[in-house]
Amino acid sequence: MSVNGRPAPFSFDEKRARLKIPGVPTRKSIVEIQYSKQVSDDVIFGLYKSKYGKDYILATDLEPSEARTVFPCVDDPAYKAVFRLQITTEDGLGVIANTPIVRKERKGVGRVTFTFQETPRMSTYLFFFAIGKFEETKRTAGGIDVITATRPGQAENSQVALKISADALLEYQDYYEVPYPLKKLHIVALPEYHTGAMENWGAIASRESYALIREDTNFRLKNRGAMSMVHEVAHQWFGDLVTMKWWDDLWLNESFATMMSYKMTQKLHPDWEMWAVFLRDEVFLRDGAMKLDALSTTHPVQARVKNVAEATHTFDSISYGKGACVLRMLEGYIGEEAFRAGVSDYLKKFSFSNATGKDLWDALGRRSGLPVTSLARAWLTRPGYPLVKARVVGGKVELTQHPFRFGEGGASGIWPIPIMMRADGKEKSFILNRESVRLDVTAASELLLNLGRTGFYVTLYDEATYELLGSNFPRLSPYDRAGAMNDLHLLLQAGLVEPALYARFVSLCAANPDSVTTQVVAEQLRVVEAIASDSLAVHGMIHSFCQPLLEHFGETPWPGEPPSVGTTREYLTSMFVQADGPYAEKMAKLFDHYTNLDPNLKAAAAIGFAITNGAGAEKALRDMVTASESEVERDMIYKGLSAFRDPKLIQHSLDLGLTGRVSRSDLHYSMIHSALNPYARDVVWQWVKKNYDAIWRLYAGSQQFYIDVGRVIPVCAVEHESDAKRFLSGRRLKEGGSSVIRVLEMLRINVELRRRLLRSGN
Ligand SMILES: [Zn+2]
Repeated sequence: MSVNGRPAPFSFDEKRARLKIPGVPTRKSIVEIQYSKQVSDDVIFGLYKSKYGKDYILATDLEPSEARTVFPCVDDPAYKAVFRLQITTEDGLGVIANTPIVRKERKGVGRVTFTFQETPRMSTYLFFFAIGKFEETKRTAGGIDVITATRPGQAENSQVALKISADALLEYQDYYEVPYPLKKLHIVALPEYHTGAMENWGAIASRESYALIREDTNFRLKNRGAMSMVHEVAHQWFGDLVTMKWWDDLWLNESFATMMSYKMTQKLHPDWEMWAVFLRDEVFLRDGAMKLDALSTTHPVQARVKNVAEATHTFDSISYGKGACVLRMLEGYIGEEAFRAGVSDYLKKFSFSNATGKDLWDALGRRSGLPVTSLARAWLTRPGYPLVKARVVGGKVELTQHPFRFGEGGASGIWPIPIMMRADGKEKSFILNRESVRLDVTAASELLLNLGRTGFYVTLYDEATYELLGSNFPRLSPYDRAGAMNDLHLLLQAGLVEPALYARFVSLCAANPDSVTTQVVAEQLRVVEAIASDSLAVHGMIHSFCQPLLEHFGETPWPGEPPSVGTTREYLTSMFVQADGPYAEKMAKLFDHYTNLDPNLKAAAAIGFAITNGAGAEKALRDMVTASESEVERDMIYKGLSAFRDPKLIQHSLDLGLTGRVSRSDLHYSMIHSALNPYARDVVWQWVKKNYDAIWRLYAGSQQFYIDVGRVIPVCAVEHESDAKRFLSGRRLKEGGSSVIRVLEMLRINVELRRRLLRSGN
């Protein structure tokens, strides 16, 4: 190392990747550092080998704090820097970085040096490069090259991602009124990737199942992939051009990109019903915003983050989903145009620099003339959300708010709740900003809160009002029905309503079919079944739900049906096939024509084939998964490999992900799907214990590890709670902190729910 041309002493703390250089003159010093790094074979995070076949792509993934493990830097989002990058590598390989290549020259025998255009000022976590054999496809959007890069042979599968990314780029230029800040935008599909996708400036990196989708891909997966491209393109401005000052405002990036990705995808594909998907996947999901925000481990959307280790734990559905709900609420409050103009002002003012949440509220406040800051603060700087109890007293409606919590600890206090309600045919909206209010409205025939599902709260009605809600159920909008089911399911988990009431409304959903409610309830029932399939009540619920709905939606698409119906069909068939023997046999027959099958039925066919044939199905499914070049296809075959009734076969499937014979990204699928198989609970729990540390190392302790184990352990360990507590103590607790406590809290909820379900039905 040298400082201003003179050799300089330094110390290096490898564990923290911290370099200390004493005696550097404070202003305008030139520090030169020569360093080397050995790329580990065992991780899929940081600088790593993303392997396929016998080859690999060397790639980076640096958020939040891996940049320091790749090159010396002040690794803090507020310290933006200009990068001039040169990479020398073997001849015949391609290199992709944040900016375009300006020169490519031979350097000795078989070596080539790539020189990249100087970057604008940017944060270190957005730095990217990848080296490998790439196939590229290009499209121009408003003069900007949008390029997908895949491993050889996959270019044609990147067309959908390419088109929607280019379309989104043009839409955002309009929306933000700021031109795309760079000269090109890559979408790099990586065969092994630990999470979904990452917004590196000018070079988005993605899991193959998000970037390599086709027009004929299963609609749910196509939709998810396309939406995630639109999310990462939103970040190219919001996050990359203007970056949060510190990780406590990570939510500002993620909530905004989440909200925008649904808004823009809806604009580009009006028939995709993206707000229904938003509620299903971001808000209502089993580890979605409303679940996590009612645990003691919750945090304000705008979290206190002391160091980057803490930043890691805030990549969750509170930062993405709840934050996006609050932004939607604010947009509704000030109007779409004032919101857009405020965002545009904010981006123009802080281009190539950093900003905080307050800077955005100020911009929105100036454009709208409304007190945005106070409403935003109340919802973003405090954890949790309210439970609104609605009851009819003496013919009048009374509303009372309390913090909604599953156990001890977590949220407290009063929220300013924008209430939108309907009572006896009259709509009413106001802000409830005290504990209790008695309204001068009657509710003799009808009372419904949270109309259109724009409020972030849960409603508990009194007994008589639930009667009314039941009889009015056919007349509710799909969002209101799905919202009511979401609330009932949360209340069931919190022990505030009985399983019988929830079951009654499940039957009402079956009698009044709509797509979004069916999907939301199917998501709920999958976990209910996984933790308590031995309860007669659960068995009854699943049959009374699936049978009439399968009859209604059928197994073959009808002409002109909305695409979401395909997803509804996928949910229903793949759930009922697990629960009903004869239906599994029927679905198994479809497996003969698997390749040409309706993509929304493939999962059910694979599951039916596995259940019906047991060990006899294993080889065929394993061969398919090891031979398949397509991650979206493998996802569905893993559903079959995870559905066996014989624990030994489940163990084989789980082990496969660690053998190196399949992409290490696949581990995610075998774990998630097996955990939902009620016959596999014990073997999955034993397997997780045995391999926990190995998987943690593979994910290099990234948040994706805790997201995955957070979906698996609370289900598979439902009969091993004290074992799980013991296992997740000591070192593992220290490593995982609040993420580990959260896993145990979710397990506690499932243990209690299982107890109540078994008591109620058997
Ligand atoms: Zn994001």
